[in-house]
Amino acid sequence: MPEKIFAIKGDIIFTETNKQFSTYLQSFLVIKDGIVEGIYKILPEKFNGISVSDKGHALILPGFIDLHTHAAQFNQLGMGMDYKLIDWLSSYTFKEEERFSSEKYAEKIYRAFAEELINCGTTSAVIFSTIHKNSCDILCRILQEKKIPAYVGKVNMDVNCPSFLCENTAESLQETEEFINKWKDNLLIKPIITPRFAPTSSREQLKGLGDLAVKYNLPVQSHLAENKAEIAWVNELFPECGAYYKVYEQYNLYGQTKTLMAHCIHLTDAEIKHLAKIDVMPVHCPDSNMNLTSGIMPARKMLNEGINIGLGSDIGAGHELFMPNVMVRAIQSSKIYNMQHNEYKPLSLAEVFYMATKGCGKFFDNRGSLENGYQADFLVIDLPEYKQNASLEERLAYFVYSGEKKYIKECYANGKKIS
Ligand SMILES: [Zn+2]
Repeated sequence: MPEKIFAIKGDIIFTETNKQFSTYLQSFLVIKDGIVEGIYKILPEKFNGISVSDKGHALILPGFIDLHTHAAQFNQLGMGMDYKLIDWLSSYTFKEEERFSSEKYAEKIYRAFAEELINCGTTSAVIFSTIHKNSCDILCRILQEKKIPAYVGKVNMDVNCPSFLCENTAESLQETEEFINKWKDNLLIKPIITPRFAPTSSREQLKGLGDLAVKYNLPVQSHLAENKAEIAWVNELFPECGAYYKVYEQYNLYGQTKTLMAHCIHLTDAEIKHLAKIDVMPVHCPDSNMNLTSGIMPARKMLNEGINIGLGSDIGAGHELFMPNVMVRAIQSSKIYNMQHNEYKPLSLAEVFYMATKGCGKFFDNRGSLENGYQADFLVIDLPEYKQNASLEERLAYFVYSGEKKYIKECYANGKKIS
């Protein structure tokens, strides 16, 4: 097959490290077979004749990565925000998720969700669906159609949940294995083991899911230490474990294969130090944490321990998919944390931009940057003409803080235009 090579010219910006931005004014981003080949101020002769698309002073930056989001909660955005976690689940979320027993409803909402991801410049995501296997397949099919690289989890829950969402344990594990076998060899959409959270799984289900993670070498995602009442409940349900994370750990769901844990707000210092040593990435979901009055993740404390933190929209507890808004919330909540704990300085824009791109991208191996060899997932952003006198970093800051989805003119994943 002949190689496909092309270049995009514009003002390129990304974060190689979380310390600062790398900027390339009026430069060429060369893409070969879906991979970043290089960035050049002047296009070398060897590229004579390749197609070049000049975007003027548009910003070119990596696509955003959302490491924690619930596709099945897309139709409940903004609802139930006066509740805290447990009441929010029972008053709104479980009822909404039950609707995904209908494939027709799943088709409608999951299509709208996937389209909104692209509108928001999110070029890959790690997603919770619901317990319903057929609807999960529909979500995977739609993401594939839209060319959005993703991990998708069929949710498992077999205790402490309403009867209409409560699975039979053996059937739940069997359907999960069928779902795994259907998607594990797909190049774009991958399965991920997804117990909702410790309280809604029996020991038997957790053991079965951990066994599947190890058997197929699959990643795991769940929730950890989001809310104090939740932690007390877990300690009551699993007194033999002695700590929330140990429930996952003892069933091979905590770092035995690569693992994402959303929230991690109320971990002890010892638990944070432990986290730094294993293959578990905490996912910061500040929008959700504010909405459900859950608390503020001690992100600076984790960074000080060398932990790589991911970022997630966590809709519908978060109320929007647009990652720049999640980034701003992460900075603002770190400022509140700083006002309470002076020794932990707030997060910088470069740090949260890194989280939403290269930091999250580590879960996918080589996404989230525009360095050579990375998958060419990028956005072309056209800001109003009057912003053009600002520096490249200032224009990026404007986009993150005050930008709108409408400024995203083009969206690429794996070097292919998906918008
Ligand atoms: Zn969540």
